[in-house]
Amino acid sequence: MRAGPCRDIRVSDPRGKEPATCLKQQAVGQETRAGRTSARSGPVCQPPPVSYPPPVDTPTFDIAIIGGGIVGLATAYRLTRDRPEVGVVVLEKEPRVAHHQTGHNSGVLHSGIYYKPGSLKATNCRAGKRAMQDFCDAHGIAYDLCGKVIVATHARELPKMRAILERGIANGVDCREITADECRELEPHAASVGAVHVPEAGITDYRAVCEKLAELVAAGASEIRTGTRVTAMARTADGWVVQTSGGAVRAGRVVNCGGLQSDRVTRMSGVIPTAQIVPFRGEYFDLTPSAHHLCKGLIYPVPDPAFPFLGVHFTRMIGGGVECGPNAVLALGRECYGKFQLNPRDLWQSLTYPGFLRMAAKHWKMGAGEMWRSYSKRAFVKALQRLMPEITAADLEPCPSGIRAQALRRDGELVDDFVIDEADGVVNVNNAPSPAATASLAIGSQIAQRVEGSLR
Ligand SMILES: Cc1cc2nc3c(=O)[nH]c(=O)nc-3n(C[C@H](O)[C@H](O)[C@H](O)COP(=O)(O)OP(=O)(O)OC[C@H]3O[C@@H](n4cnc5c(N)ncnc54)[C@H](O)[C@@H]3O)c2cc1C
Repeated sequence: MRAGPCRDIRVSDPRGKEPATCLKQQAVGQETRAGRTSARSGPVCQPPPVSYPPPVDTPTFDIAIIGGGIVGLATAYRLTRDRPEVGVVVLEKEPRVAHHQTGHNSGVLHSGIYYKPGSLKATNCRAGKRAMQDFCDAHGIAYDLCGKVIVATHARELPKMRAILERGIANGVDCREITADECRELEPHAASVGAVHVPEAGITDYRAVCEKLAELVAAGASEIRTGTRVTAMARTADGWVVQTSGGAVRAGRVVNCGGLQSDRVTRMSGVIPTAQIVPFRGEYFDLTPSAHHLCKGLIYPVPDPAFPFLGVHFTRMIGGGVECGPNAVLALGRECYGKFQLNPRDLWQSLTYPGFLRMAAKHWKMGAGEMWRSYSKRAFVKALQRLMPEITAADLEPCPSGIRAQALRRDGELVDDFVIDEADGVVNVNNAPSPAATASLAIGSQIAQRVEGSLR
C-alpha cells in the first residue's frame, strides 16, 4: 500500500516559501499570546494577515477542509452525504489525495483492542471500523477480516497481554485468550507461550477508500482541489479567507486535517497548538514470495504500554504479500521518506523542541535500539525472529517507509489519544495517529456534527 519514496517538495518546490510564512506566524503567536485563551485549544495568537485582499469574485464555500487524507475526505463525505446542499471544498497540496500517512499505511482494520475504554481512540475505532466495513461493502472495496494474534513470546509478557485482552473485552471487541497450541493452529510459524486471538481484525485498501470518498464528494456541489497548498488564513466578519497556492477561497468554517502539518495549519488560524507534531519514520520489509506462507493474517507482539507504537509485526496486505515492521525513528523531515533525505527546517524544529529533548532523555535506550534496527538489517531480523524464529534475512526485501505524525507535548509526553480542538470557527485535528484510518468515518461524523450546527 505504501507509495514509493516521494521528493521533498519543501526543498524543491518554489512554493516552498510557505514555511517562512509559518515561522513568522509562530513568532507572532508567541509575542501576542499573553492573556488570550481560546475555548479549547489553549493560547491564541494574532491570525496572520492574508498577503493581499481577496478579489470580490473569490469562490465561497460553507466549509473548507485542509488536507485530502482519509480524515479530511471522510469529514467531507459525511458533510456532503448528510447535507448535499452544503458547499465543501477540500484543499490538498499534493497532486492526488491520500499522498502522505493514508497512502503509506499498513491497511489494517484495527479492532479497538488496545485503547483505553472510553477514549476517543476506543469509541471511534469501534464505530469507525463498522462504518468502514459498511462503506467497503456498499462500494465494492476489498477487505478481509483475516484475524490477528497478539503473541506473548515469554511468560513475563502474559500479564500485559491479559491487560490488553481486558481492554478489548471492555471495548466490546470479539477477542479471547488462546493457548500456544491454539495459536499454532492459526499461525503455525509464530512463536508464543500464549496469545490473544482477535478474529474480527482485518485489512483493506485505504487508498481505494479515499479515491471513492473523493469521487462521492465531488459528485455533488462540493470540490476536491488537489495541488492546492494552504499558505495562510485570515478571519473575516462572517468566516475565513483561506489563502492557497491557487488563489484565495472564502469559507464560513474551516476544518484542519493537515496530518503531518496539522500543528502548522493550526498556527495559521491564530491558535498555538498544545503539542508539536514530531514525525516518526517507520521502516518496513516485505516478505519475499517464497516466505508469504509464513504469515496467514496479522501477527503482533505484546506492545510496550509506554509507547503508542505497536512494535514490529507481520501484516498480510489486501493486495497480496506480507509486510514486516515498522521500527520507529525520528524522521529527518516531516515528508522525507528516504533514509538520508533531510529537511533542515523540520529537523531543526524537532531537535530544538523541548518536548523532543525531554522525551529523548527519558527514552534514549529504546530510541537507540530503534535506530540500530534502522541501520542493521540483522538487528531488524532479530526483532522479527522473536515472533517468528525461522525468518532469515533472505526472506526480507526492503519496501518504502511511512511517516507517522505524532503529537508531542512540551513536557515530553507522547499524546496518546486523538485530539480534536475547536476555536473561532476552525476545527483543528491536532492528533490523528493510528488507528485514525480505521476510525476515519467516525471521526468525520463527529467533526461534521460540530460544524453542521453552525451552518445556515
Ligand atoms: C506507516 C503507517 C502505518 C499505519 N497503519 C495504519 C493501519 O494499518 N490502520 C490504521 O487505521 N491506521 C494506520 N496508520 C495511521 C493512519 O494512516 C493515519 O492515522 C491516517 O492516515 C491519518 O489521516 P490524515 O488524513 O489525518 O493524515 P494524512 O493522510 O497525512 O493527510 C493529511 C493531508 O493534509 C495535506 N496537507 C498538509 N498541509 C497542507 C496544506 N498546508 N495545504 C493543503 N494540504 C495540506 C497533506 O498533503 C496530506 O495529504 C498508519 C500510519 C502510518 C504512517
